[in-house]
Amino acid sequence: MTLDVAWAVDWVRTSAATVVEHRDELIELDRQIGDGDHGENLKRGFTAVVAKLDALEAPPATIGDVLKLVATTLMSTVGGAAGPLYGTAYLRAAKACGGSTVDSAGVVALLEAGLEGIVARGKATTGEKTMVDAWSPAAEAAAKAAADGAEPAQVLEAAARAATAGAESTIPLVATKGRASYLGERSAGHLDPGARSSQLLLEAAAATAAR
Ligand code: ADP
Ligand code: MG
Ligand code: MG
Repeated sequence: MTLDVAWAVDWVRTSAATVVEHRDELIELDRQIGDGDHGENLKRGFTAVVAKLDALEAPPATIGDVLKLVATTLMSTVGGAAGPLYGTAYLRAAKACGGSTVDSAGVVALLEAGLEGIVARGKATTGEKTMVDAWSPAAEAAAKAAADGAEPAQVLEAAARAATAGAESTIPLVATKGRASYLGERSAGHLDPGARSSQLLLEAAAATAAR
């Protein structure tokens, strides 16, 4: 079993829909420990991504082409911390997916490359109350599922479940990276908005793969 370019496009469009649907929630989470713009930043970015997809004259040839379009658009439209972080994640993921399909190992490579991009850009490790706390367990769970022989959709399902647990795990943490770190101990007791949005993006990946 493999996932194809149509899946990648479906993932991106579904990501845009879920980001729009959760805009207010992400704003509220970011209002509690940041500056309250995360939901609007991502809504603006993914709305621009969909507009670019709609304007393409020919469908993208590879999964990498789809992810590269996401990367460049998010970098130029999202701003803040999340723009460069997600932009780098999708750019690295694009480089890991040069073909027109991905198998289970390819899905793992995509997720690991995305995580590497976020870490390269933001220098956070797990436990710092950032999107890394969703991505890192997601990539790990994906690798384990693939090693156990899971199909791509199941690999993404495992990743999404781990991202959900990872996002929840940020609640008690004290932020040591990004804007939330300015609050010190007062950042504890809140879900990190970037970990929550990462969970939503990975849930969209799993949901579209299962169709
Ligand atoms: P800003 O903080 O500039 O307003 P956003 O609100 O769009 O940007 O994004 C905030 C999210 O970015 C945080 O919730 C956190 O998950 C993530 N983040 C911030 N700094 C880092 C970092 N150095 N590494 C990884 N993720 C980070
Ligand atoms: Mg913010
Ligand atoms: Mg901001």
